[in-house]
Amino acid sequence: MKYCSVCGSEVRVGVPAGDNRPRHICDQCGTIHYHNPKVVAGCIAHWEDKVLMCRRAIEPRLGLWTVPAGFMENGETTYEGAVRETLEEANARVAVDDLYVTVNLPHINQVYMLFRGRLLDLDFSPGEESLEVVLLGEDEMPWNEMAFPTVSEALRLYFADRAQGQYPVRMLDIVREGGVPGRYQVRRIS
Ligand code: ZN
Repeated sequence: MKYCSVCGSEVRVGVPAGDNRPRHICDQCGTIHYHNPKVVAGCIAHWEDKVLMCRRAIEPRLGLWTVPAGFMENGETTYEGAVRETLEEANARVAVDDLYVTVNLPHINQVYMLFRGRLLDLDFSPGEESLEVVLLGEDEMPWNEMAFPTVSEALRLYFADRAQGQYPVRMLDIVREGGVPGRYQVRRIS
């Protein structure tokens, strides 16, 4: 951040009084600009034993596979975000059951909240951000062509829990290993 989004003056980086972290500070209007993690809401939507998967039509990870998920919008709840993303990316209507997994990604300042959902009908099609939308069983999953480790790790947990017939709420930390892009360490918290 170079300029204040309130008044347009140049900002400086400093630790405000009573704080303990560097922030972008505007001395002109006094605004302290806080940058905090973003929440990604998404849905593991199933029909019988298959899960709704989207092949991405946009960067990053164009051509790779994901469950419907995206940044929350202001004014919506997490589960509303999951339902909206499923509609936007897959033109699919879904009833959300429960929160399934929270994934912490501290190296990119994101938190994923993926819900379990039921497809209400089979009338789905690629939205603007998807090349292809399909229902895939566990054996059909393109495990080597997943867009994000968040998605593959969440789906592996999901299928393992489904085999046990129950879905406890899960939490994962995925951190970049040694600061190397593309190498991750996955910690299962619950
Ligand atoms: Zn300002």
